[in-house]
Amino acid sequence: MPGEGVLVDRVAVVTGASRGIGRVVARQLAQLGASVVVNYKTQAEAATRVVAEIVAAGGVAEAIAADVARAEAVDALFRQALARFGRCDILVNNAGIIRDNLLLRLEAADFDAVLETNLKGAFLCARAALKPMLRQRFGRIVNMSSVVGLHGNPGQTNYAAAKAGLIGLTRALAKEVGSRQITVNAVAPGFIETDITSHLGDASRTALLERIPLGRLGTADDVAGLVGFLCTPAAAYITGQVIAVDGGLIL
Ligand code: NAP
Repeated sequence: MPGEGVLVDRVAVVTGASRGIGRVVARQLAQLGASVVVNYKTQAEAATRVVAEIVAAGGVAEAIAADVARAEAVDALFRQALARFGRCDILVNNAGIIRDNLLLRLEAADFDAVLETNLKGAFLCARAALKPMLRQRFGRIVNMSSVVGLHGNPGQTNYAAAKAGLIGLTRALAKEVGSRQITVNAVAPGFIETDITSHLGDASRTALLERIPLGRLGTADDVAGLVGFLCTPAAAYITGQVIAVDGGLIL
């Protein structure tokens, strides 16, 4: 694989890495040579399987549970990661949930839950990861936004607000920490085949495919390839950017 080994001696924390995009991102970073913390919230068995896959491929990984929406849990996650690996070079803020409904029917609790996991979680993790990154004068932060954060989507006002918020966070933080050689970028996937999109019915899937120039939904590998690239030395001069991986959906 191109770039294999370029992240040797780097340590990565990938939030929400037990399933979906995060799982493949964790495997990708491990394949590039990084030691990887596979964070998850509840699905310990799935996270253990991801660690086993990485180890079987010759990599190094450890699963650590933490709800990214809770400050104490996030601080404990980074304490454990630092105790195990001694540094933190890469943070991928990938953990995310949806609680879709039209705004008039949207419960305040579902608005809060989506903002707390998808946006506040990224803030809490970035704050914790920045301490070692600032000491090291090196860091790579990648925030998992969405094309929905760029263009909106009916039934997803909470999710769109969180994902647009992540873009603002990305740009402001990129300006704050650039002088320490820490880059902060956002990736905006379109529709990717994971548990999140598994609820799409046949009619919505067909309508969606008509709007995607590349004619297919994306895969977690499509997204992980970009995340991996953003963490390699080849991307050292890229910061504050939002890059869509959507098969041309938003053109
Ligand atoms: P997924 O398959 O549903 O997986 C979600 C992951 O997030 C799981 O590992 C889950 O852990 C974890 N998670 C959820 N809440 C958490 C919390 N509070 N603390 C820590 N971990 C938590 O999701 P996905 O489709 O791979 O999506 C990954 C990211 O990409 C999300 O941010 C999503 O918004 C974004 N995205 C996805 C798509 C898409 O089409 N799939 C498109 C655009 C953007 P457990 O297994 O323990 O529950």
